[in-house]
Amino acid sequence: MRKTVITLAAAATVGLGTIFGGASIHTEAASISSLKDQQNKVQKERSGIKSDLMKQNDKISNLQNQQNSVESEIKRLEAAINQAAAQIKEKTAKIAETKAEITKLQEESAVLKERIEKRNVLLKDRIRSYQETGGVISYLDVLFGATSFSDFIDRANAVATIMAADQDILQQHEADKRELETKQTEVQKNLGSLEKMVADIERTNQQLNAQRAEKDNLLASLEEQEAEEQEVAMDMKEQENILAAQEAAIKRSLQAAQAAQAAQAAKQAQKPAASSSSGGSAGGSNAPAVSSGNFTRPAPGVVTSQYGMRNGKMHYGVDIAKSGGGVPIWAAADGEVYAAHYSSSYGNVIYILHNINGQIYTTVYAHMSSMGVGVGANVKKGQQIGTMGNTGASRGQHLHFELYKGRWAYHSAINPAGIVPY
Ligand SMILES: [Zn+2]
Repeated sequence: MRKTVITLAAAATVGLGTIFGGASIHTEAASISSLKDQQNKVQKERSGIKSDLMKQNDKISNLQNQQNSVESEIKRLEAAINQAAAQIKEKTAKIAETKAEITKLQEESAVLKERIEKRNVLLKDRIRSYQETGGVISYLDVLFGATSFSDFIDRANAVATIMAADQDILQQHEADKRELETKQTEVQKNLGSLEKMVADIERTNQQLNAQRAEKDNLLASLEEQEAEEQEVAMDMKEQENILAAQEAAIKRSLQAAQAAQAAQAAKQAQKPAASSSSGGSAGGSNAPAVSSGNFTRPAPGVVTSQYGMRNGKMHYGVDIAKSGGGVPIWAAADGEVYAAHYSSSYGNVIYILHNINGQIYTTVYAHMSSMGVGVGANVKKGQQIGTMGNTGASRGQHLHFELYKGRWAYHSAINPAGIVPY
């Protein structure tokens, strides 16, 4: 992360002093050039951050494009999985149908077998009786029982018919049996190929699901990466907002210093002998003596987290918590609100610039439920600026308070212990 290196404090004594009331004008020329220098530095830093932000946004849109393509791949896989599932369902139904058909064929075949069996027994009986009587006795009995020649012919024909009929029935049964067996083998084959098909589809489906799980993981990690990059971008935007506010504050100071210089030049033209030591016109030089009394505690409640390392991460502020509604947040010292907005990390946050006898400090008040003052407001020590809340990346109602010696710069907050009572 870029580290900002502007030392606004150096110029503040004179330059920003105009904002806070107290200005000595004997070094206006020096302060104007110093303020211009600060202005250039802030502008340079802003353009640096803007180009970083552009690169960051490219990174984010690249991650978003990757997510889109993974998402469309997931959609394609989902369609394939659904299709496979439909095929499995269809083939499984066909398998059940085929199995029912096989059962039916087996039943038919059993009936047929029984009939053939019975027929065989009957025919065997006939053959046995034929053999036992040493010839076609049973038929001959029939024939010898004839009462006339025509009766004999009739009987002979009848015997032949019976024998032929027996043969026909047997042959028919054999044919039926063969046909059934053929059908059975065919259906069995059909069942085998159906089962193989289902196994194939199921294997494909498993592969598709594995691919899908892989894509899901990829998407999750891309989303996580994007969230991280978005956070970096948010930090950059916040830095840019704060730098913009500082640039505006410097510009106001510059204009005031230039006006003071012009006034001084006009005065010197009128009264060349005038002393320039105290510049009494600006007034307010009787500021209170530097003491611990310059700051007051920013909120009531208990300190739940100190400045310093916390869970392996640097905690750049002090957390003060108190439950209940309408817990006030106070300005830690006299100063000017130069930023008041919502950020995803800080929630509702106010930045105040203080000039404590020439030393610039910045205080930050995060996670407020509501803000009572806006940009440009001049606040007094102990004045309520908002209400304690739980907005942004916060777990539980508390104030996250940060102190900077000099102007705000990313990750450069100092430990407020010993400076601000809390
Ligand atoms: Zn905190």
